[in-house]
Amino acid sequence: MIITSTEDTITAIATPPGTGAISIIRVSGSQALNITDKIFYGRIKLPEVDSHTIHYGQIIGSSEEIIDDVLVSVFKKPHSYTGEDSVEISTHGSPLILKKIIELLLESGARHAEPGEFTKRAFLNNKIDLAQAEAVIDLINARTDVSLRGARNQLDGLLSKKVSFLKNHLVNAITLVELGLDFAEEDIEFIENSVLLNKIDAVICEIDNLLSTYSFGKVIKDGVNVAIVGKPNVGKSSLLNYLVKESRVIVSSIPGTTRDIIREEISIDGVLFKLFDTAGIRITQNEIEKEGVYRSREAIKNSDIVIIMNDTVQEYSADIYNEVCSLVEKSKIIPVINKMDLNRSFYNIHNDLGISAKTGEGIGILLDRLKKMALENSIYTEKSAIVSNVRHYRCLQNTKVSLENARKSVIDRYSGEFISIDLRNAANNLSEIIGEVTSDDILNNIFQKFCIGK
Ligand code: GDP
Repeated sequence: MIITSTEDTITAIATPPGTGAISIIRVSGSQALNITDKIFYGRIKLPEVDSHTIHYGQIIGSSEEIIDDVLVSVFKKPHSYTGEDSVEISTHGSPLILKKIIELLLESGARHAEPGEFTKRAFLNNKIDLAQAEAVIDLINARTDVSLRGARNQLDGLLSKKVSFLKNHLVNAITLVELGLDFAEEDIEFIENSVLLNKIDAVICEIDNLLSTYSFGKVIKDGVNVAIVGKPNVGKSSLLNYLVKESRVIVSSIPGTTRDIIREEISIDGVLFKLFDTAGIRITQNEIEKEGVYRSREAIKNSDIVIIMNDTVQEYSADIYNEVCSLVEKSKIIPVINKMDLNRSFYNIHNDLGISAKTGEGIGILLDRLKKMALENSIYTEKSAIVSNVRHYRCLQNTKVSLENARKSVIDRYSGEFISIDLRNAANNLSEIIGEVTSDDILNNIFQKFCIGK
C-alpha cells in the first residue's frame, strides 16, 4: 500500500470521462493557488483573490501554447469541500485538454489524487465525519429517489448525531464510574448501581432500535433482489417485461442469453427492485445447463423475495416449490399462477396469486405484495436515523456486546474497573462509526471505493 502525504497538493479530473460541454479539474492543498497560478493567465494573481470567486483566463503551456479558455473557482481554507485551499478549473469538455492541463499541474508541483482523496481530506480536516463521508459514496451511487434521500440524510448527519448522542451518554457514565474508582478508598459512590443499569439499558434499547433499521436501510441503499423461478414457457420473461413496462422506470437492463440469468432493475415507488429471471434450477446432465442451474440456485439463495411461477396450461410443478423452499425461507416466497386469461376455468388449488403477464390481471396485487414484503414491518421513515452500511451495523453489534458485558458486571457487582473497560469498548465502537477512532486500514478500505476526483 502506498502511503500518501496529506501535505501534498493533489489534482484530478472531477467530471466523468469522455467529451462533454465542460469538464472540471480539482486542485486541493496548501499550494493549490500557487500551482494553478503558474499555468493560469488571468487579470489577477490567484493567491490574491477572495475566496468563493470565479476568474476567467487562459491556461498556457510551456511553449506559450494556449491550451484552453477556462474559469477558475477559488475556495480558500477552511471554507472548501476538503477544508484546504482548493481550485476548480472549468474547461471545455475535451479529454485532450484535460490531459494537457493535468500534466501542467503535475509539472508545477501537484500530484495525482488517490481515489476518494478529496473526501478523505474533508474527513481528516473535520469537515465531515466518517459516516458522512461514506454517505457521499451512497449519494453518488443512489439510483432511486428513496436511496438518494437515505444517503442525503446520512450526509446531513442524522445517523452521526444519534451515534454521538449515545456515545456522550456513555462517556458520562464512564466518568462517574471512574470517579468512583479514584475515590474507592473513601468509599464514595458517584453513581448507584441501579442508576448505572438504567443508563446502560437505555443505550442498549437505542442500539437495538438502530440495529433493527438495518434491513430497511439495506432496502433503501441496495434495493431488493427478486428471483422469478418456474418451468420454461410459464411466462417468466413476459412477467419481467410487464413489470418493467408497468414501473416505467428502468434503472438498468442487463441482457443475457436464455441460459443466463436475466436481470432488470426497476423502481416501484422509489424502492429499487432487482429482478432476476432464473434459467431453471432442475438437475441436468448438460454441462452448460449445469452451470446455469448452479447460478440460478445461488441467485435464489441471495434473493430477498422469490416469485415461483406456474401457469394455467402446463402441469403444476410442486418440485420447484419444494426446491425453492430448501433454498430460502417460506416467508420470502410469492407463488403465482400466470396466464389466467387463457384458462378461466382453472382450479387454483394452491390458492396462488392469479396473474396474467399478457393482460396485466393481478399484477397490481403482485406489486403491492412486493412492496409490502420489501418494507416489511418498517415503522421507520427516512427521517429517522437509519443504518444502511454493514460497517456501521457491525460496530453497533459490537457496542451492544460490550454493553451487555458491562451490564452483567454491574449486576454481578464486579469492580468498577471491569465495568469501565466494557463501557469504554462500547463507546469506542460508537466512535468508530463516525471515525473518531479508526485505523488506517479501515480508512483506506472506505476511500478506495470512491472514484478518483471525489
Ligand atoms: P419463460 O420461458 O418462462 O420466460 O416464458 P415466456 O415469457 O417466454 O412465455 C412463454 C410464452 O407464453 C410466450 O409465447 C408468451 O407470449 C406467453 N405468455 C406469457 N405470459 C402469458 C399470459 O399471461 N397469457 C398468455 N396468453 N400468454 C402468455
